[in-house]
Amino acid sequence: MTERHDVLIVGGGLVGASLAIALDRCGVDVGMVEAAPAGALPSVFDQRNLSFAAATVNALTALGVMQKLRAPSGPIRRIHVSREGDFGQVKLDAADYGREWFGQVVVARDFGEALEARLGELSKLTRYRPARFVGLAAGTGDARGVRIADASGEREIAARLLVAADGTRSGVREALGIAADEHDYRQTLFVARVRGERAPDGTAYERFGDHGPTALLPRGDRHYGLVHGVARDDAGAVAELGEAAWLERIQQAFGWRAGRFVASGERSAYPIIRVVATRTIAERAVLLGNAAQTIHPIGAQGFNLGLRDALTLAELVAEAADPGSAELLERYAQRRREDRARTLKFSDGLARLTSNDAPLLRPLRSSGLFAASHVPAVQSMLVGGAMGFRGDVPALCREDAA
Ligand SMILES: Cc1cc2nc3c(=O)[nH]c(=O)nc-3n(C[C@H](O)[C@H](O)[C@H](O)COP(=O)(O)OP(=O)(O)OC[C@H]3O[C@@H](n4cnc5c(N)ncnc54)[C@H](O)[C@@H]3O)c2cc1C
Repeated sequence: MTERHDVLIVGGGLVGASLAIALDRCGVDVGMVEAAPAGALPSVFDQRNLSFAAATVNALTALGVMQKLRAPSGPIRRIHVSREGDFGQVKLDAADYGREWFGQVVVARDFGEALEARLGELSKLTRYRPARFVGLAAGTGDARGVRIADASGEREIAARLLVAADGTRSGVREALGIAADEHDYRQTLFVARVRGERAPDGTAYERFGDHGPTALLPRGDRHYGLVHGVARDDAGAVAELGEAAWLERIQQAFGWRAGRFVASGERSAYPIIRVVATRTIAERAVLLGNAAQTIHPIGAQGFNLGLRDALTLAELVAEAADPGSAELLERYAQRRREDRARTLKFSDGLARLTSNDAPLLRPLRSSGLFAASHVPAVQSMLVGGAMGFRGDVPALCREDAA
């Protein structure tokens, strides 16, 4: 007999795992298919530093995930944004907004362990791992057929709602015949843990240069999480630099605001592309997170946005008799429209303004991105991004949910 679930999530990464936890809380019968084996975290839980917006921290606390973090997260109390060759700058202080912090910095690996610990407590979740989604099968009127493969071969599972949380190169998206628009920023981001002479004081820095952004996030372990963007053609040479030359390069790109950089951990490199699905829903199916939209990490919005996708879906499913009805999916797409459009615009706008592939924008940038007249607009854009309260906010993101 074919196994059957109300909701089948393909992908147990950041968004899929969060959705599974949110749905279990509402008593929904969920299956989750993940390619990584039990006992090993999916590779996306690596050393990247994730900046969680306040809305995300509220929701992950309400879901019991933040409490499982074994390493301390780093509060972002201030944000400092500047541009090479531009004397203006924007400084934001959470205290001016009546808050202790705008968000928290968490290392992806630590987050993966916390999610895994919380997933282990769920009573209704069925996990298929290691198993891969391989295609769609004939469904019935009230369910989709899904083919998965594991060590024992291929089999079919029926689901009233199929959720694609399988990342940028989503196989589910492709099987559903949903096209995606792609843009290659021709940029590579390097991520590393960096130690400075001075420990972080809660300030997150973003420095825009002609060759890409350099950001420092205050981690909870007295190190900075560094992100350094370079033109794709230079990435090979930057990867080859010895520690001293690498430290010199990032010191030059960033300047001295945070003091001298004295040591760096291993560097990981991420080629940056934007992939945006032309639709996020299909018959008894929905795309979430990176499968729906993979955006430039510069604005630190990808997971924050994907979590709001997941929580909105969980809210709607919790109240519905049929989790995959056309009416529910239409309501989902409608509720996500504004947040998705605004966040895509914000991230893409920041990326284009700061990346090396936009020589035409150079005069505009040098004309003073941070001139006094622009500052209020830049400030409100940054605060919106840092806090994550955009559009029709899911209830779990609100202050009183945690
Ligand atoms: C350098 C960098 C820094 C970032 N910083 C931030 C930040 O500060 N803040 C923020 O909000 N976001 C940030 N992001 C973005 C964030 O990492 C993504 O938004 C997030 O990973 C998306 O989660 P997801 O679950 O949709 O996809 P993923 O995390 O990619 O998970 C997809 C999962 O699906 C599984 N899978 C794939 N195919 C199959 C299959 N066929 N069968 C079964 N399983 C499958 C994979 O194994 C994986 O576990 C950053 C990204 C990068 C690259």
